[in-house]
Amino acid sequence: MYGLGIFKGLAITLKHFINTYRDEAEWSGKGGRYYNEEALKVRQSLKGKGAITVMYPEEKLEVPERFRFVPFLVMDDPAPGQKAGKDWCTSCGICAKVCPPQCIWIERGKLPNGRPKPEPVNFYIDIDICMNCGYCAEYCPFDAIKMDHDYELASYNRTAAHIHDKERLSKPISYWRSIAPGRAEDEAQVRAEEEAKKKKKKE
Ligand code: SF4
Ligand code: SF4
Repeated sequence: MYGLGIFKGLAITLKHFINTYRDEAEWSGKGGRYYNEEALKVRQSLKGKGAITVMYPEEKLEVPERFRFVPFLVMDDPAPGQKAGKDWCTSCGICAKVCPPQCIWIERGKLPNGRPKPEPVNFYIDIDICMNCGYCAEYCPFDAIKMDHDYELASYNRTAAHIHDKERLSKPISYWRSIAPGRAEDEAQVRAEEEAKKKKKKE
């Protein structure tokens, strides 16, 4: 019958609408349907009933390991009493070359003899232009740039807050291990294998 699909769709919407209130009643004695860790888990699972809306920003969902937002630069964990560790970036410039919207600027260091130093003096990413494609992280030969999970970067001040410099971009390797433990472990294993091969070649 013409229009039957519309009624079926409306019936499903009505079912979700009613189930939301039923679910709310069921959770009323257990801390409520919203702003409740346990209820959020159930609501987001296959057992969830009614509207599965998350009350952001009070409620947040965990992002998967492969989630990617604006990149950050990897550095060693700072030594006790130090603010920053050694940069992994060698300022080779590959990430800036492959970046499709060209939103990476790198200021390379110089040795006293004027030759290039394999580390950046500064590193900028315009996060409003970055399209979170992850190419920079994919192509970096030194595992020195990674896609972050921090997506709460909105602000009213574009120039001061949306052009991230080296200080803002740099995060210790332990941070990468905490947000992407599986990938960090795989990468560490590959690096160790490469190091072993290089060592063997030299012997
Ligand atoms: S590709 Fe990696 S090492 Fe090269 S400049 Fe970019 S972040 Fe640094
Ligand atoms: S994620 Fe993509 S757009 Fe953003 S800086 Fe990296 S290469 Fe450029």
